[in-house]
Amino acid sequence: MKLESILLPGVDPKRPLVIAGPCSAETEEQVMNTAHQLAADGIKIMRAGIWKPRTKPGGFEGVGSEGLGWLKKVKQETGMYVSTEVATQKHVYEALKYGVDMLWIGARTTANPFAVQEIAEALQGVDIPVLVKNPVNPDLELWIGALERLSNVGLTRLGAIHRGFSSYDKKIYRNLPQWHIPIELKRRYPDLPIICDPSHIGGKRDLILPLSQQAMDLNFEGLIIETHCNPDEAWSDASQQVTPTRLKEILSALIIRDVKQTTEDLSELRQQIDELDNQLLELLAKRMRVSCEIGTFKKEHNLTIVQTNRYDEILHTRIAQAEEMGMNPEFMRVVLEAIHEESVRQQVDIMNNKV
Ligand code: PEP
Ligand code: MN
Repeated sequence: MKLESILLPGVDPKRPLVIAGPCSAETEEQVMNTAHQLAADGIKIMRAGIWKPRTKPGGFEGVGSEGLGWLKKVKQETGMYVSTEVATQKHVYEALKYGVDMLWIGARTTANPFAVQEIAEALQGVDIPVLVKNPVNPDLELWIGALERLSNVGLTRLGAIHRGFSSYDKKIYRNLPQWHIPIELKRRYPDLPIICDPSHIGGKRDLILPLSQQAMDLNFEGLIIETHCNPDEAWSDASQQVTPTRLKEILSALIIRDVKQTTEDLSELRQQIDELDNQLLELLAKRMRVSCEIGTFKKEHNLTIVQTNRYDEILHTRIAQAEEMGMNPEFMRVVLEAIHEESVRQQVDIMNNKV
């Protein structure tokens, strides 16, 4: 993937790149009021949803093209750049007609390769930054696939937005961050900027600052934060929007750590991590060998591979042990489940005479 900068002229290249504005453009007054406050605080790029993909019909589905006129006015009156979400070719043509400076593809659209392909074709030859939100489901390949479709038509000013992943478990987050997914994206495409969307991950105002801080500590390039002049009255996503004043507080509370300096100072500790990882791998391989011996025994004695009681006991004892040792029980569950899965896979091979 050939990648070039998504920075727009006059926008500070220092991290974080900030995109702020309402979930949806609702009225001209709301858009202009929010825009003037943001511009006064030095925000350079405004977001506003014009077409809103809603889970069920009957919700507010965006004001449509009329709102693009308001965004044009934002540009004229404040000098800010404007950005919006596109989900169809028609959206692309409309947005470009009104001079929108930056586009993004929403999470529901990224999950649909046909839609992404159509958008890509409509964007061929257009030189503006395009950001791709992660798909609603935790599928890194689908996310990369969408970026590749844009890259294949010749677009280079690409970026990714991490907005978290759908889950039934909504205890803390509206969408689970699953940080390892954007981290893996960054590992594969180090030049691809990643913008974190703490608003849609958290789903509530109080989580915006800690999530933004975490994104900065992971060296993500930017933040897209839903900001509304009167959040409680917002027509969509009211509970996660902040006022421009609160946005300013959040941004000034962020600690932006230096990448280079820490890399140098950390080499000794990193050596220790490398050594510990080696030990972990050796131990895991040893555990697998023992598990294969068990597999042979089960085969000879005609026993089933998974013995639920035993697995249940392993999960319980180890998770409790891990918690006592200061580790997150959920983390330990994921690790044990992964080890168990590999162990079962190897035993299945033994049962089927594959090894
Ligand atoms: C949005 O940015 O308002 C939006 C609809 O987000 P997502 O596509 O991440 O759900
Ligand atoms: Mn929203």
